[in-house]
Amino acid sequence: MSTRLCALAFACVVACGSAFAYGPHGHMAVGTVADAMIAGTPAAKEVRKILGSNLRTASVWADCAKSVDPRTFKYGGAGRFADCAIYENPASEQLMEAFVRRNVGNCTSPHNTEPCHKQYHYTDVALQRVAYKKGQVGTTDQDVVSAIAATIAVLQGKPCPPPFKITSKKEALRLLSHYVGDIHQPLHVVSVYVDAKGKVVDPDEGAFDARTETHGGNDLLIGSRKLHGEWDSVTSSLASQPPSPALMKLARAVPVTAGDMSGWSTAWATESLTGGKVAFDGITYAAEDAQHHHAVDLPAGYAQRKEDVQRKEIAKAGARLAQVLTAIWR
Ligand SMILES: [Zn+2]
Repeated sequence: MSTRLCALAFACVVACGSAFAYGPHGHMAVGTVADAMIAGTPAAKEVRKILGSNLRTASVWADCAKSVDPRTFKYGGAGRFADCAIYENPASEQLMEAFVRRNVGNCTSPHNTEPCHKQYHYTDVALQRVAYKKGQVGTTDQDVVSAIAATIAVLQGKPCPPPFKITSKKEALRLLSHYVGDIHQPLHVVSVYVDAKGKVVDPDEGAFDARTETHGGNDLLIGSRKLHGEWDSVTSSLASQPPSPALMKLARAVPVTAGDMSGWSTAWATESLTGGKVAFDGITYAAEDAQHHHAVDLPAGYAQRKEDVQRKEIAKAGARLAQVLTAIWR
């Protein structure tokens, strides 16, 4: 993905800089819900012991680490994002730099030129699919589905599966608390593929043309705004601390995912795929411009539709993060 970069809460940043996929509010909301759900359990003690903080704080670490330069491995984000300030000290910067150094060139599936660890945040399944399945166009061995499974394995004390290079439970927990948010951001899972004329195509039918990729909606513009950024942007009220009773009610109603935990992220991706397609309902695409962007028109009521989906997805993500942790540390 070339630019999963700009959250509306922040100015778009330059070069290899980054911002917050799902926006800091989205990730913090997920962490806050999970913190509330595990309060008083053995998992909460273990989380505190491993992180030295809560999940709300940990949830933005993976995006802060995107500000490590992939060539010099120096953290370059100082002062850029308020929510990364807690990690802007020599000891914490070294941990982000070490993570990026290990996870910059280790990708095993050809996909795009992004540093590998940035590819851990998403997958790009076509909206025509009804279930996530490895091998479909847009899926990779280093996508968010595999990344979540890898972090869970490390937290269970198992070897870290390749291509991931996660070397501590602290790193794994920081990453998990973020990626569970990402997999519940529809545009981190479901993608529309569009030809030069603006016609929606199915990339899994016939020969795949990489020029039809829209990069998670980063190539789709509402005026000057990216459709991806629209979905990263979450109203700050969802991230209130403590979380609202309404949000906690939704979260407490989320059933535990069936089957072995190693398959949970696949089930979550399928759900985000089927439930996230609504993000594209009624949208029309103009022919591409010289920058390979398509102007899009959103249907009436789109903002409310987006907010409704986001509230449910954040509740699900918070609940599921908590469910993983309480399953590991009973
Ligand atoms: Zn992310």
